[in-house]
Amino acid sequence: MSCAEPRLVLLGRQGAGKGTQSNRLADHFGVMHVSTGDMFRTQAAQGTAFGLEAKRYMDAGDLVPDEIVVGVIEESMVPGGPLGGGFVLDGFPRTLHQARELDRVIAGFPLHLVIDLDVPREIVFDRIAGRRVCENCQRVYHVNLPPTHNWACDTCSGRVRQRDDDTEEAVERRLELYERETVPIVEYYRERGLLTLVDGVGEGDEVFERLVKVCLEQFS
Ligand code: AMP
Repeated sequence: MSCAEPRLVLLGRQGAGKGTQSNRLADHFGVMHVSTGDMFRTQAAQGTAFGLEAKRYMDAGDLVPDEIVVGVIEESMVPGGPLGGGFVLDGFPRTLHQARELDRVIAGFPLHLVIDLDVPREIVFDRIAGRRVCENCQRVYHVNLPPTHNWACDTCSGRVRQRDDDTEEAVERRLELYERETVPIVEYYRERGLLTLVDGVGEGDEVFERLVKVCLEQFS
């Protein structure tokens, strides 16, 4: 299949590197990076009623209710934006209901590929505990690989800090929800012939190369 504007979904446990890798993939293919988690965090930082409501769920490690998330995706998937121009979806869908709703919302612009970025549960714990994120542009760092100057983001100088929902209890809860709510989606996409599994263990650049390779195999 030849494809100038890919439409991709990246699935994976919290801490699998979905955020970083989907950002890089979107840049690489010149399409939009659509992250529901980033949208909620931006709204929460702005203090909107909607953002503060989403934050309550996020900080507890719970999923934001489907009707809210689907509404957000529906608003962002406009024909002049990601729908016509291609996208990398990061963090959506997370439930079977969301996967079915996505099919409805993007009707006429079907997905090209769904990647399951696979990192075992034990490894993601360590990654999440050390994760630090720019609160402005969402660039991801690690305590072992911080920004150059005093926790100011190398890209935008924003403050780099630990996410409020990266506490141990919240992470436990998110991983449990992932097994229960999101793993069934893997089957949903496998049955439709869209799923590819990519090993997410290793250096960021190495994982990125694997991702680009499977995309190119699919698109050319
Ligand atoms: P993420 O940055 O993708 O890890 O998302 C952070 C948090 O936002 C999640 O733990 C959920 O509370 C919420 N969230 C993001 N995307 C979704 C979604 N598709 N469905 C439900 N909740 C979501």
